[in-house]
Order: sequence, then structure tokens, then C-alpha cells
Amino acid sequence: MSMDWKGLRELLETEDRSEPVVSLYLNLADPGRIETELNSLVRTAHKQLDKDERFEGNRRRKLDRLLSDMHRRLRSEIGPETSARLLVVFADTDGLWREYRLPVALPSRMVIRQDPYTRPLGLLLDEFPRYAVLVADARKARLFSLYLGDLEEHPDVLIRDEVPDRVRAKKSMAVSAWGVYSGVGDQRIQRHIEDHMHRHFRHVAERAFSWFKAERFNRMIVAAPDERTLSRLKDHLHSYLSRRVRGEFTARPDDDRQELKEKAIERTREIERREERELLDRLIDHHLSGGLGAVGLQPVLDALLMGQVHTLVMKDDFETSGYVCPEDRYLSAGAASCPSCGQPLQPVDRFADEIVQEALNQGAEIQHVTIENEGFDPHGIGALLRFRV
Ligand SMILES: [Zn+2]
Repeated sequence: MSMDWKGLRELLETEDRSEPVVSLYLNLADPGRIETELNSLVRTAHKQLDKDERFEGNRRRKLDRLLSDMHRRLRSEIGPETSARLLVVFADTDGLWREYRLPVALPSRMVIRQDPYTRPLGLLLDEFPRYAVLVADARKARLFSLYLGDLEEHPDVLIRDEVPDRVRAKKSMAVSAWGVYSGVGDQRIQRHIEDHMHRHFRHVAERAFSWFKAERFNRMIVAAPDERTLSRLKDHLHSYLSRRVRGEFTARPDDDRQELKEKAIERTREIERREERELLDRLIDHHLSGGLGAVGLQPVLDALLMGQVHTLVMKDDFETSGYVCPEDRYLSAGAASCPSCGQPLQPVDRFADEIVQEALNQGAEIQHVTIENEGFDPHGIGALLRFRV
């Protein structure tokens, strides 16, 4: 599915809105519970409106109607076949409706206030790698972004350079230089073509570099029709870009877009598996040597409490129950009362989502891993630490 990232940016940048925005984060991880959870969020929101003096009269009636509309629309839209784990919706009574589906779960919540509550979404989106995909041959280049499975072309950076083939080169050289002329040497023709190609690849590399910087990509995948062209393309890339090339494949710029997408996505899977492997090796090494690594639920909770977590690492299907302070979100693996405010902690069964949310709030990176690892799998959760205490 295609997500409206530009729309999200607009949403973040719009100031002075006239109507309040309803922001919904709905956890889709357990299909059997989505509807119950949605019902309860909407019910709670209606109740909150009762207590809030800012929303009265006509505005209140419009908000109530919006909540009911959202409720109806989402109930019919969310089927059990969804592969997303989080649905985020921003809506207002002026007709605003923006919807995002993400592969990572957060605790469900609904917030009604003047501005859209985008912070958790923004933090989460920063966690996914942004790939630039450059497909080039000797005459042409296309640039795509690949983000959360969306391949988007950037037609304004399409590059077409005139590079003569052998016959045309021979003709133009023979005519332009010496009038009617026979026997332009093969070597000279070849050099002429090479010059053009060199200029083309330099042009491609320059455009790719400025685009890469402007759009804040962090990884690049390159493609060309054959090994020789590919290595030429890479030779021309700015060193800043070459360092960020993580994968390559064989393709032509004019290939079918769907085909390009499949090849690029296949590469990202390999890249991500490789990075997961490196990450887990590093984590386990740190853990075993008493360095900057924590493995297991309690050590991770301790590290979160002390603000030590640099990267939270979680097995994709990691789940556990735990306890949360309703007041200040203090997290604990066992029942107790909150050490900071003294309230009794409340049990939650999707505790992993609370941990992710807390780590995001602290500015930590989140890494979900899917590969198997002997040292990590028995725990399913760990963290690289900023410092030791
Ligand atoms: Zn508390």
C-alpha cells in the first residue's frame, strides 16, 4: 500500500488550525482484539469530551459525530488479513483524514487536541531505513526512494544524456572534423564514446549526490545492466555515497517498475538480515564481556529506568506481560506499587509495546530482528547501552 508521506509532512507543518484533531494509534497486533479496543477508545474519547470545557456546543456535536464516523469507517476497513501492526489516523471535523499503517506496534491511544499528536509516529518513522535506488545505464538514469516497502520515482531527477553509439560517433566525427573523411580510427571513436559516457556518469553521480543529501537517505542501492556498467557507475560516485551503497542488482532504467521494485526489495531484505546479524553479534559480545550490552527483560527495564538505552533490540514476535504505572508510565516486570508515585501498578499483557514506547520517548533507536540467534533467542529482548552505571 502506498502511504502519503508528503501529506504527513504537510500535516506536521500546518499551523493555526481552526478545528481540533483526533489522533488515533490503534494496535493491530492481535486481530481478535482490534474491535474491542477501538470501541473502548471511542467510548473513552466521548467521555473525555464531556469533561472538557474547550469542546462545547456546535464544536462538541461535530466532534461526537466525527468520532462515530471514524468508528464506523475503521470497523469496516480493518480486516483480519492486515499485515500492519499499527494503524495511525489523523482526522478533524473539516474533512482531514490521513491514515498510516506500520509494521511495528505501539500501545493504542486516542488524543483529541488542537494539534495532531504526531510525535510517536515521527519517532517511529525515523527508525526505518530510507533507501535511494539508482538505476543507470550508459545513457540514462532513474532515481527512486524506497521506504517501508514503497518505491517512489523522482521524475525530476531523471537523467538522459546523449551518448553516441559507434555508427553515429563515426559519422559525426567524420563529418564535423574534416568534411568528407574516411577512416576514423576505431580507437578514436572508442575514446569519443568513452568521453561522453564519462560525462554521463559524472552527471548521474552529481545529481544522485545532491538528491541523496537533500532527501536525507541513509542507504543506497545501485543497479545497472551488467557488471562493467555497474562498476563504472560506482567508480563515479562521490565517496560519501559509495560508503552508503549497501546492495546492487542487475537492471536497466527502462525495465518495468514492478520488476525494479521486487529486485530492490529483495536486496533490502538481504541488507537488513546482514545488519541484524551484525547487531546481534555485537550485542551478545558486549553482554558476555560485561560491556555496553544488556540482554533479557529485567536488565533492559533497569537500563531504561537509568536512561542507558541507546538501541532497543527486540525479536519481532517478542511478547510478555508486565506492569505499568497509570500515572507516569513506570514499567515493571512484577506486581508492586510505583516507586516514584506510590500508586499500584496495573497489569498489561502487551508489555513489549509499552517498552518500545518508553524507549522511543527516551530517544533510543528501536531494532526489531527476525533472524535466529542462539545467544539472543532465549531472551528475545536486549539493548545496546550508551554508558554503564
Ligand atoms: Zn507512578
